Amino acid sequence: MRILVTGGAGFIGSHYVRTLLTGGYPGYEDAEVTVLDALTYAGNKVNLAPVTSHPQLRFVHGDITDAALVSQLVPGHDAVINFAAESSVDRSIEGAAPFVATNVTGVQVLLQACLKARTAQTARTPQFVQVSTDEVYGSIASGAWTEQSPLQPNSPYAAAKAGGDLIALSYARTHGLDVRITRCCNNYGPFQYPEKVIPLFVTNLLQGEPVPLYGDGGNVRGWIHVDDHCRGIQLVLERGQAGQVYHVNGNAELTNWELTGALLEACGAGPDMVRRVPDRPGHDRRYALNDDRLRALGYRPRIPFARGLAETVDWYRANRAWWQPLRRPPAGRR
Ligand code: NAD
Repeated sequence: MRILVTGGAGFIGSHYVRTLLTGGYPGYEDAEVTVLDALTYAGNKVNLAPVTSHPQLRFVHGDITDAALVSQLVPGHDAVINFAAESSVDRSIEGAAPFVATNVTGVQVLLQACLKARTAQTARTPQFVQVSTDEVYGSIASGAWTEQSPLQPNSPYAAAKAGGDLIALSYARTHGLDVRITRCCNNYGPFQYPEKVIPLFVTNLLQGEPVPLYGDGGNVRGWIHVDDHCRGIQLVLERGQAGQVYHVNGNAELTNWELTGALLEACGAGPDMVRRVPDRPGHDRRYALNDDRLRALGYRPRIPFARGLAETVDWYRANRAWWQPLRRPPAGRR
């Protein structure tokens, strides 16, 4: 098994690679992994440090929009798992162009290379797993989205991810490529870039700085530990069906106020450390996923939110050398 992991130096992709190469997915101990990563501000080779010298890992520094590089790299792989993305909603509001380039065009370039690998007869046709997000659906007041719910993205980030998903499904339907899409709720865990809410709030509090809370704090998000998300992706790779979308859900649905309260407590801080800031434009009120389809394949999130959050806070406490250089003064929510 040869797996191309794009975006494998980011938060979730690096967790997947570290887990795979340390025997975390039974039956895949012999898998050879190629990581293709452009090392944007969010990509960091240090995230792969525990496996950097692993004989089954090859790192390629490059961009998924580089058609020449990608078409040379893809043949010979059995699967492509696409984690590569511009992933910050706030950055997408400041400027959407890199989001369209990576999250839409980049996906198309990868798919085209898979198609080319198929027509090149000697090579295997890779299975393509597109790692996507619940944000493509927009906002839901009550209940939960199924995989058939309409895509109504509101932020440029979510719209670009929806575009990538639709291009991927079009290659499945038009060309018969084996494409599978996962859509997950908000992730947390070690090695998450400190612009996202949990690592931003934790690192602020560990430095004695206040945390910026958007609007009335009533926005609701589902939360999943990155390890559970990666197990869901692996299950879709192993047991999913071509052409299908799968929701990967966690076990916690919280308002931002509730999340902030949990982080204050975990860091030993009080409510005086919260600063209200104007709400994000177009801020979705609530996301919620129905994950029955993945559960039918045997998926269950394993890490209880309270334990996962406590371990995550401990990790940031113990790994200042990782996050301190990544924080931009003054620290702000992105
Ligand atoms: P991240 O920003 O931490 O990492 C993205 C990685 O992609 C980085 O290593 C970056 O260098 C790389 N990259 C960016 N543009 C590239 C390009 N053009 N070519 C090659 N590499 C490029 O993101 P993440 O949080 O690890 O998210 C990974 C995937 O999971 C994304 O597709 C995201 O949409 C999806 N997702 C994330 C969450 C979440 O809560 N973080 C939730 C659901 C889905």
